[in-house]
Amino acid sequence: MMDFGKIIDHIYQQLLLEKNLGQVAGYIPELATVDSEKFGVCLINTDNQCFSAGDWQEQFSIQSIVKVVTLSLAYQKLDAQLWQRVGVEPSGTPFNNLSRLESDYGIPRNPFSNAGAIVVCDVLMELFSDPREVVISMLRTLAADDDINFTQAIAASEKSEGYRNMALAYFMKSMGNIKHEVEDVLDFYFDVCSIAVSCEQLARIFMYLAKHGRSADGKYSYLSEGQAKRINAIMLTCGFYDEAGDFAFRVGLPGKSGVGGGIVAVMPGEFSLAVWSPRLNEKGNSYRGLRFLEHFTDATERTIF
Ligand code: GLN
Repeated sequence: MMDFGKIIDHIYQQLLLEKNLGQVAGYIPELATVDSEKFGVCLINTDNQCFSAGDWQEQFSIQSIVKVVTLSLAYQKLDAQLWQRVGVEPSGTPFNNLSRLESDYGIPRNPFSNAGAIVVCDVLMELFSDPREVVISMLRTLAADDDINFTQAIAASEKSEGYRNMALAYFMKSMGNIKHEVEDVLDFYFDVCSIAVSCEQLARIFMYLAKHGRSADGKYSYLSEGQAKRINAIMLTCGFYDEAGDFAFRVGLPGKSGVGGGIVAVMPGEFSLAVWSPRLNEKGNSYRGLRFLEHFTDATERTIF
């Protein structure tokens, strides 16, 4: 059997010797205060074995990674009907792009762009009377850990300067694709982006996509096998914005990044792997996180291709 622990440790040590490039996300003032040299890794396999390195138990801001969870909740309820409000095509544009929305009549290309995730938040507000509680309890149940919470300071920081997201939401409202008040939808969106998780918690949470819709302990079913397949496909094609092709090329796994510096990748049927390193490349994805995952799938040959 492959020694994941040894391989993770080796790549981790190698990367520490290399220069760490990129910048911590500065456009959310509170995120810019994070120590840029943090670096954590955690892999959990379907036998519930855990392999880790560095700052794997320290919490950081989930940011866009939460979009997979909010999408899963909406999809679980609406199934294919959801695609009337948001598409499933890669955008080839940055996560906060505005220009495409006009020619697309306010229907975002995919649920992992900010526009798409804001629509999904609007959908969840229609489906649930207390959507914040539904999101946080899904995360806690999947992680089998109640120590997962919103981070008020980060949400407030984003609310105070989230002008692009406001522009996206108001534009979609004008096209009829946002049903609630824009401020309420954005409050909810910024709150879910602010949730703090560790690599260990993230790896455990994402086991439902390695286990075809079921939680790590097998107790809960969140998605059907067909739905889990489709969410993994959207992660592969859209999980890294205009770097999605590069991620598939280098890493070869479905995954999702966030501007908190986290990345989670899934090998269906085998494992879920979370990395965290706050310095981002120019596309908004963790520089060291990407390097780690590329080395990991090269060394282990565990990839969907
Ligand atoms: N909350 C961030 C934003 O809306 C999420 C972006 C990201 O992680 N890529 O800008």
